[in-house]
Amino acid sequence: MSMHMRGRPTFDAHYIAMDVFRLQANPLLIDTGEKRILVDTGVGPGKGWARYAGRLTKSLEEAGIVPETIDTIVLTHCHGDHVGGMASQTELFPKAEVVLSDVELDLWTGADAASKLPEWAAPDAPNLRKVFAALGDRVRPIKAGTDVVTGITTLDTSGHTQGHISLLVGSGDEQLLITGDAVPSIHIAFDRPEWQIIWDHDRDKGAKTRRALLDRAVSDRLLVSGYHYPILGSDVW
Ligand SMILES: [Zn+2]
Repeated sequence: MSMHMRGRPTFDAHYIAMDVFRLQANPLLIDTGEKRILVDTGVGPGKGWARYAGRLTKSLEEAGIVPETIDTIVLTHCHGDHVGGMASQTELFPKAEVVLSDVELDLWTGADAASKLPEWAAPDAPNLRKVFAALGDRVRPIKAGTDVVTGITTLDTSGHTQGHISLLVGSGDEQLLITGDAVPSIHIAFDRPEWQIIWDHDRDKGAKTRRALLDRAVSDRLLVSGYHYPILGSDVW
């Protein structure tokens, strides 16, 4: 019996098909009262493989947010579906600093990027190198584990990419874990965290990180939000 067939009950249990698996991409805006922080930026407009993408400006507008007022963009990692909304339209966010892990910045902009990235991701590196160079000192690489601002700290959740970070947001007695792509879905990853994800640069490490992060979410009773989780009631995938 193939792996494909053995996975079937898990898919069936969640009412999802095995041939097409659609993912939403949902950037998250945090308003601390002092700072507006956008976590990941979507695919960006004009990508044929994501025909409903490119709605970030409109979604911000509908939320009453002018993009120019965003203070900080945090990138969990630099895959195109997270960095694209910024990389393709940096002029939308003229004053935002861009925070990402130092490892992630180096991964995509270093001279040896092509040898460290999987084949499907490597072609994005030259453009990203240009984008980050143009942003200059507005780019703030940080060590995983340090704070973005007071109350928002980062966790090293490498595996999906070498420099992937998740965020822990504290507010009163509650803490929100923003997983990014360390936990890329609610259906499969919650149920079977040990299953490997083809988009993880290091699939073994990705699975270990996912398991550890979910264990922590349970033991610390964290609220959990992720980037590719479906927003109920949305008609757009
Ligand atoms: Zn993603």
